[in-house]
Amino acid sequence: MHFVLRTSRTLNLSIQCQLYLFDSMVKPILMYGCEIWGYVQLKQIENVHICFIRKLLPVKKRTPLFMLYGELGRVPLSVDVKTRMVTFWSKLCTKNSPKLSSILYSIVYNLHNEGTHGCSWVPCIETILNNIGLRYVWLSQSPISTSWIKNTAHSILIDNAIQLWSSEVDSSPKGQTYSLMKPQYEFERYLPSLPFNKVIPLLHFRSSCHHLPVEKGRWNRIPRDERKCKLCCLNDVGDEFHYIFKCIHFRKERSMYIPSNFVKRPNMLKFRSLFTCKKIPVLRNLSKFCKCIMQTVKTSS
Ligand SMILES: [Zn+2]
Repeated sequence: MHFVLRTSRTLNLSIQCQLYLFDSMVKPILMYGCEIWGYVQLKQIENVHICFIRKLLPVKKRTPLFMLYGELGRVPLSVDVKTRMVTFWSKLCTKNSPKLSSILYSIVYNLHNEGTHGCSWVPCIETILNNIGLRYVWLSQSPISTSWIKNTAHSILIDNAIQLWSSEVDSSPKGQTYSLMKPQYEFERYLPSLPFNKVIPLLHFRSSCHHLPVEKGRWNRIPRDERKCKLCCLNDVGDEFHYIFKCIHFRKERSMYIPSNFVKRPNMLKFRSLFTCKKIPVLRNLSKFCKCIMQTVKTSS
C-alpha cells in the first residue's frame, strides 16, 4: 500500500488512478481466500482501506469516515467479501455434484442442521443471505445461478452500505451541511477535474477541515447558536452557508468568484446547486473563494 502511495506521488498520479492501483494491487492481496475466512472480523482489512483513503485525501485525522467514503464514492471492502462468500457458496450448492468440495459442504450443512458440528462459515452465509432478503435462496440450497446470486447480492449489499452511510450523515452534527453539498453518493467530479492545489481548499471546506466558527465552536463545546461570525455585523452563525452567500466581509470576493445567479436571493437549494455544479470554471472559482474564506477566518481568530 505504501509502495502504491509513494509511487503515485512520485509520478503525480490522479486520485482515480491511485484508487485503481489500490483495487488492482492491494485489494486482491487483502481479500485473498476471503470466500473461506470472510466470517471473521473484517475490521483489520477495512482498516488498511481506511488508512489508504485517509492518506489519499489530505484531511484531518478526525474527519468523519462518511465524508471520505462519500467524496470518493467508496463502499467498505466487506461488500466485496460478502459477495464473494455467497458466490462461492452458490458454487458448492450444486446437487449431486461429484466435486469433493460440494460433497464436503453437503456433509457440513447436514451436521450444522443437526447441531452436531459448529462450523462458523455455514451460519455466516445464512446470516448474509438473511440480511439481504434472500432467505428463500438459503432455504432452497439451490441458487438460480452463480452469476445471478453474485449480481443480486452485490447490488443489495451496495444499497445497504449507502443506506448506512446516509444514516451516519443524518445522525452526525457535521453531516447537516455536508448532506447539502453531497446529495448523491458518487465519486466527486471536482477531484479529477481540478488541479490538486484547487482540490485541497474545496475538500477542506466540504469536510469541515477549517477554522470557521461553526467548527471551532464545536472544539470548545460552544452551543451551535452561539458560534457567531466575528467578521460582520449580521450576528449569524459562522457556518459554510453564511460565508459563501451572506457574510458582508467577503462581498467583493463573492462578486469575483461566485456566479451572480447564485448570489441573488441565496437559499439552501442554490447552496446545493453550487457545490454540485459540474462546470469546471465554477468549481475552480469556488475553490479560490473557499481558500480565501478559510485563510481570512483563520488569521482573524
Ligand atoms: Zn459574517
